[in-house]
Amino acid sequence: MLIRFFLLFVFIFGATPAFTYRVVLDPGHGGRDLIPYSLYGDKFDRRTGVYLDRFREGARVRGVWEFEVMYDIAQKAKALLDKTTTEEGRREFKKILQKYGKITNGEIESIETFISRPAGYIESYFENRDDPNSRFRLYDYPNQKTGALEMGTISRINALTPELVITLHLTHTHAPSEGAMATVITPAYKTYKTALEYVQANKTERKRLSNNFAKSVWANWFIFDDRYKKFSSFMADAFIYFIGFWSKPNGVQTDYSRFRGYRHNLVTWQYADSDAIVESLYAQNGERYATNLISFEPKGKFWEREKAEPETWRREGGPENFGGDNHYAGMEILRFVRNAFIVNGVDTQRSAPKILKPYISTWAVPTYVNAVAPFVEIAHTVSKRDYLRMAKHRKIYAEGVAVAAYSLLYGLSTPHTKMAAKGKKIDLAKYENLASGNYFKQVTRN
Ligand SMILES: [Zn+2]
Repeated sequence: MLIRFFLLFVFIFGATPAFTYRVVLDPGHGGRDLIPYSLYGDKFDRRTGVYLDRFREGARVRGVWEFEVMYDIAQKAKALLDKTTTEEGRREFKKILQKYGKITNGEIESIETFISRPAGYIESYFENRDDPNSRFRLYDYPNQKTGALEMGTISRINALTPELVITLHLTHTHAPSEGAMATVITPAYKTYKTALEYVQANKTERKRLSNNFAKSVWANWFIFDDRYKKFSSFMADAFIYFIGFWSKPNGVQTDYSRFRGYRHNLVTWQYADSDAIVESLYAQNGERYATNLISFEPKGKFWEREKAEPETWRREGGPENFGGDNHYAGMEILRFVRNAFIVNGVDTQRSAPKILKPYISTWAVPTYVNAVAPFVEIAHTVSKRDYLRMAKHRKIYAEGVAVAAYSLLYGLSTPHTKMAAKGKKIDLAKYENLASGNYFKQVTRN
């Protein structure tokens, strides 16, 4: 009772309680793909003073704008999670949770919830018309008036030191007509290491490595460029991950015309190298800024992070057998969204949206945050049914996301049916109790 009173006291005076988990809801996109991208894009290169990549504006299909719908769903999910911070709200949130399962310890725990970006460029167009993408870039970027570096979305997420980051997207890739959802996952160093071995290997060993990859859980790699097959798409992404350049379609040579930046240095966090370090090591054999993969060596604090256990837990193995806690958390969100349609009477077990195989690539948000970082495509707009649901059922998606966030942090005892979410909370303690301290909180340590 005393604790309750104390919490009430801190809320009235606007402070945050001593301890609560933090969730960041990260709706995709927000800005426009403007030409030329060197002036308006994303991935700002401090060395050359230009943007290295297009701004990814997301899906836009017959009046449905991904950035707008995802923000709306995030905002509705935040409103539900915010209920956990007041006495009255907890009573309401409890009723919602009870549609999905039993609350494991009887009491509703609190969650502090944030959204990673403002609503969209349209809302702030008149203040920002010289640089409408300024508040929506994933990576850090210069203020167009002052030149000072501003934090992009990934840096703003890291500054909040959350335990859970939920990235929400919708896609217009092909899907069954009854609608579908999918997780978006990224492997850890131990999988990318195959690419380091591949460039060193002789012809026979290369054959063996690519055959093993084709039999692995990561085989269904995402293809961005049709000139690349699945394995060479993996190689291209591994090149980007390690040295910032694409590989050519042969998977072994650097494509010097396609530089995508040293992404870990385009983010404000403790693992970035200074420009001086990059300058002093650039193009040197046996170094972390080598420009071909064969002479690359993973040295320095970012690569130590990549090789360490917490990143393996986040991105490999785990309850889904691969993809780590990120994959499990993403699947739980999708299972709870399915259930949200069922418990709210829209679908039956049979008609609820299918869960497709994950989209696998070197995705930015799940890589460059220390949190458990599920990334989901919650609908496919090419399915007419999903398209209509983007207009009609945002509240249901939001409820599924909010219940999943709660269950992932605190657990929920769900029915043991095939389609139901597992309800098992993430083992956060292993990240919190590292010898070096709490992994979630050390992301911005100096
Ligand atoms: Zn998207």
